[in-house]
Amino acid sequence: MRYLILADIHANVDAFDAVMADAQGRWDRTLVLGDLVGYGAEPNIIVDRIREMNPDAIVRGNHDKAACGLDDGSQFNHVARLSAVWTAEQLTAGNVEFLRALPMGPTGVDALTEICHGAPFDEDYYIFDAGDARMAMQAAERPLCLFGHTHLPAIYRKLDDLFEGTAPEGPSETRLPLQRGVRYLVNVGSIGQPRDGDPRAGYGVLDDEEREVRLFRVPYDVEKAQERIRAAGLPVSLANRLAVGR
Ligand code: ZN
Repeated sequence: MRYLILADIHANVDAFDAVMADAQGRWDRTLVLGDLVGYGAEPNIIVDRIREMNPDAIVRGNHDKAACGLDDGSQFNHVARLSAVWTAEQLTAGNVEFLRALPMGPTGVDALTEICHGAPFDEDYYIFDAGDARMAMQAAERPLCLFGHTHLPAIYRKLDDLFEGTAPEGPSETRLPLQRGVRYLVNVGSIGQPRDGDPRAGYGVLDDEEREVRLFRVPYDVEKAQERIRAAGLPVSLANRLAVGR
């Protein structure tokens, strides 16, 4: 089975459409790692699209919780909170209900794979470094744990005492063969708001028969996404950051 891995879409339909076009023919099923909404200007379109896709596994993100009233956004900075309030006002009742019903991670996909938004031990925890990754690997119950939340592509591997972390930078495609006996913690990056200095949208594909994860970066119409954010009256910093991928 080939799973399309979608994380941190953040209501950015221009990035989402570019990813779906790029991914055409590469996948059979879908995994969604949370933060469908927040920051971007098209929350309803994105939630509608994800609902239509009927993902095989999906977990909620912190911005999903804030937008549907499960969280008061008190941990958010000013701009994030403004966007959460704006998103809550835009969402249709049906989409609010859908977000409210999203499960908390981690969620098992099969014997190989599980998904979470932040970390397997805490859906809101940020895995930023090797120390975080070690804790997450201890908590993960399957050899491959896919996570999001940081908006930074990252690959951590552990084989016995050997532990390694890398950040795929630059290429439009990174291939990660999954070796037996090795444990993996992988972030394929964010579709709607990359933060590694590369404005291209990030997504992944897991092929569990070939035992490989492929991480992709796709250019999209950033100016169009910025226009939508400005037209919506959202903070202009949310538009500006898309151009620099920060
Ligand atoms: Zn996010």
